[in-house]
Formats: sequence, structure tokens, C-alpha cells
Amino acid sequence: AQKHFCPQLSTKPHSRTGHTVFVTGAAGFIGAHASVALKRRGDGVVGLDNFNQYYDITLKKSRLSKLLDRAGVFVVEGDINDGVLLRKLFGLVQFTHVLHLAAQAGVRYAMVNPNSYIRSNIDGFVNLLEVVKSSIAQPAIISASSSSVYGLNSKVPFSEKDRTDQPASLYAATKKAGEEIAHAYNHIYSLSITGLRFFTVYGPWGRPDMAYFFFTKDILNRKQISIFEGPNHGTIARDFTYIDDIVNGCLSAIDTAKKSTGTGGKKKGEAQFRIINLGNTSPVSVHKLVNILEKLLKVKEKKVVLMPRNGVVPITHANISLARVELGYKRTVDLEMGLKKFVKWYLDYYDAKKNSSW
Ligand code: NAD
Repeated sequence: AQKHFCPQLSTKPHSRTGHTVFVTGAAGFIGAHASVALKRRGDGVVGLDNFNQYYDITLKKSRLSKLLDRAGVFVVEGDINDGVLLRKLFGLVQFTHVLHLAAQAGVRYAMVNPNSYIRSNIDGFVNLLEVVKSSIAQPAIISASSSSVYGLNSKVPFSEKDRTDQPASLYAATKKAGEEIAHAYNHIYSLSITGLRFFTVYGPWGRPDMAYFFFTKDILNRKQISIFEGPNHGTIARDFTYIDDIVNGCLSAIDTAKKSTGTGGKKKGEAQFRIINLGNTSPVSVHKLVNILEKLLKVKEKKVVLMPRNGVVPITHANISLARVELGYKRTVDLEMGLKKFVKWYLDYYDAKKNSSW
């Protein structure tokens, strides 16, 4: 671990709201945005990230320096599998909430490194739950799940009661397993748990492995665009959801989370367990995505259409009625507007002369 990533946690992180949140995956795309938003509204925040090399580490480190320098968020370099470290942190700080975003993300990489999914999304999650369970404060957990759990289910829009027994990728299978494991911990130890099923999240500081990101790069580099959708146009569509809407959903989930009712796993009571979709409810085809990006970048590139890749589901589309009721969730940014913000960030970030802001 590099020393400068470790905070001096001898004092309690300052909180104006009564919330002190442990954010796992804090240097990740969603984790960094959520940490800044929590800190800005006055919550105490301690982040953790193992800085894995799944994608460009420079981007993660740039997010980190924003977190440290601009927002003043503590980030510890460490792994959710490190029980000693977690127990130490939970001993130093009485967290009220855990926002669990650390995971091995991405559908295709599971074919390259399947064990990394088991290690982070299953083993690491169980380790975290064990530490939460035996901590004195037993914080409520808000944990990232994914639209991928709906798998090959083709009945859209997806609502939380729909079947999730046909995973199309190992990633999806580990996310579904995470939900089941969380439910078991809720049942046995009365931990308060909310699983949020995010739908294709995009925006500034996003993930370079995601289509909107590498299409932007390819269009700017005048490279031919490969669209993996098979012979029928518009058959692959995603419910692209802007990062700020997702972050607001996470913050509302923290605000509406009930306390865990168990005490150190000894006394049981009814505790909250929720699974909630956070999406945009308007799927857009990959073709349309490319057209919007080309319009924003004022470049038109040749496209080549290839067969869909393994593990890819044809469509995702969220029903967000439950999110509206439970979280007062609203989607506020449509794809054109969100991509405009992303493209502006992208051009600033990769233009060294400018300084991209949050
Ligand atoms: P990300 O890869 O940018 O962020 C995850 C972070 O967790 C990374 O910085 C990584 O270094 C860290 N991490 C991974 N394994 C770890 C471990 N064992 N210990 C500590 N840190 C670890 O991904 P993201 O897009 O910000 O996703 C955040 C969460 O949301 C993930 O759980 C992901 O599965 C889920 N999700 C994301 C999307 C999306 O479209 N971005 C959609 C559905 C679900």
C-alpha cells in the first residue's frame, strides 16, 4: 500500500448530517462521484479502493487526486478481502452506512479473468458483510447490483419481481449471487441491506471499457466503428443512465435506509431488505448512440456491423416505479444532454492544457 493513500484516521471524519459512510470502490467511476456528492452535502466519508488494473490506472489516480485535493475525501488503498484492514477501519470509525461499489465490473473481461469476479464480487463481498455483521455499529449497507441480473429475460421493461434466473455472463451471475448472499445476511443477522440494480451508467470520468467511451475515442481517432449487433439494426439497446441520477439514487438509498436490527449477530429483529432498479426507462440502440456521438464530435465515421458478442443481452430497460416510491428517484438527464457533458469532459481531460472539473 502506498502511504500517501492512507488517511490519518485518528480523528472521526467530520459529519454535518450524522451520516458517516464507508464507500468501497471509491476511486471507481461511480464511487468517486458518489464520494464527492456525499462529502459536499456534509456526510463523513472514508473511501477504500484496491486500484486494480482492469482499466487505465491513470484515470483512477486522476479521480483520486480530485477526491483528495478538491473534495477532501479520505481514501485508503486496500482490498475488501483484507479482513484485518476492514476490522481496523471499522474499529476506528463508527460508520452509519456502507456504500458498496467495489467490484470486478465488465462483461467481456470475465472470459479473460473469471476468478477476479469471484474474488471481488463474491469472496470480497462476504468478507465485508462479515466485518459489518460483527461491528458494533452495524451500518446499513447499500450495495451495487446490476441490470445484467435480468439476463436473457426479454420481457421489458424489467421490474424487480421479474425472473433473474438466466444470467448471460459470469459478471451477471456474480451480481445475482451478491444479491442472494446479501439476502441471507439480512435474514440471519438482521442487517439492513439495499441492492441497487444500476442500468448502463455513463458520464464524465466514466469507464474506458464501456462502449460510449471507446466509441468517442475511435471517432476522434478517425477509426472505423465496430457495432456488435448482428444483421438487424437497433437490436442491441441499452437504458443509458446518467451518473448524477445514479448518485442521487444512492444518496436517497442512504437517507431512506433503516437501521440494522441485529446486535453483533446475537439478537435478531426484522431488518430492511430492498432490491431497486435505477435506470432511465428509455433504451437507445447502439446505432443511435454512435449517431449522437458523431453529431457532438462533428465527425462521421465508417461503421462495420458485426455479430453480437458472447455474454451480451439484446436490451435493457428499467421499470423505475419502485425507485420513485422508495427513493423519490427521478431521471433528470436524457442521453443527448448526458453525452454532451461526457464529450465536453473527455475533450478537456485528454487535452492536457485544460483542467477538467467535477
Ligand atoms: P469501476 O471499475 O470504475 O469501479 C469499481 C472500483 O472498485 C474500481 O476502482 C476498482 O479498483 C475497485 N475494486 C475492485 N475490486 C476491489 C476489491 N476487491 N477491493 C477494493 N476495491 C476494489 O466500476 P463502476 O462503473 O464505478 O461500478 C461501480 C459498481 O456499480 C460495481 O459494483 C459495478 O458492478 C456496478 N455497476 C456499474 C454499472 C455501470 O454501468 N457503470 C452498471 C451496473 C452495475
